[in-house]
Amino acid sequence: AAVGASAAPTAGAAGATEPVRPAAVSVHRAYKRFGERQVLAGIDLEVPAGQVLAVLGPSGSGKSTLLRVINHLEQLDAGHVEVGGEPVGVRRHRGRFKELGPRQIRAQRSRIGFVFQDFNLFPHLTALDNVAAAPVATRRAGRAQARERARELLGRVGLADRAEAYPRQLSGGQQQRVAIARALALDPGVILFDEPTSALDPELVGEVLAVIRDLATSGTTLIVVTHEIGFARDVADAVVFLDGGRIVEQGPPDQVLTAPRHPRTREFLSRVL
Ligand code: ADP
Ligand code: MG
Repeated sequence: AAVGASAAPTAGAAGATEPVRPAAVSVHRAYKRFGERQVLAGIDLEVPAGQVLAVLGPSGSGKSTLLRVINHLEQLDAGHVEVGGEPVGVRRHRGRFKELGPRQIRAQRSRIGFVFQDFNLFPHLTALDNVAAAPVATRRAGRAQARERARELLGRVGLADRAEAYPRQLSGGQQQRVAIARALALDPGVILFDEPTSALDPELVGEVLAVIRDLATSGTTLIVVTHEIGFARDVADAVVFLDGGRIVEQGPPDQVLTAPRHPRTREFLSRVL
């Protein structure tokens, strides 16, 4: 048996590139303020396991903050988040919530993939080592096993031939695909994407969306903040439109994107389309 197989039953089998158990995500009455500014003003959200949610909304509407609270990079002032049925960042103790310790938070975070707008790759590591780093650091896998798996994941995002390249030697689209492979390396139950194509030259957007589309069809739970309306329409099971920290509209993409009910949604769509 592979090193770390007991800690991560899904990662043990060589060749298993499918994330095994997609996790449902729910956000209950989430409130978050920064100073005077109410950035999340009572968000309720359910993403069933294996579904794809597209999050739309103008700049400053709270989209990134919403992703960050799901990953516990920010703490809520009120409300709570569950991923895979487990409260994030807290545990229930005698009917109340208590903060988890740093170790438990790290363990939870490792089950939630995060892909950033600006890739955030380690500049001093090759593509392969960027992907292998977390499984090694978290002792999910030995170094050799992690590198073998990283090679597979780079193949999955179409970069088998760039394993030894450093981030600066890769295009933005390639770097973002490495970042997606890196997110997959810990077999997350859900992957959060924060405007994954916003930093890319237009001709590189398609290759990244194609990889996300592939993940969507493979049954991973995805929450994607995006301005790519065509992508949302094709790939998302549901769309939410955020404005001023509230969900002002949600529903299936053909409803929200084709026949929006709310004037704010209509105005936003007329600007991005
Ligand atoms: P979006 O991703 O939709 O553009 P954000 O969630 O990044 O919106 O931010 C929503 C609002 O919260 C913005 O006004 C932003 O300036 C503010 N904000 C976000 N993070 C912080 C922070 N750490 N400290 C203070 N204000 C913040
Ligand atoms: Mg943002």
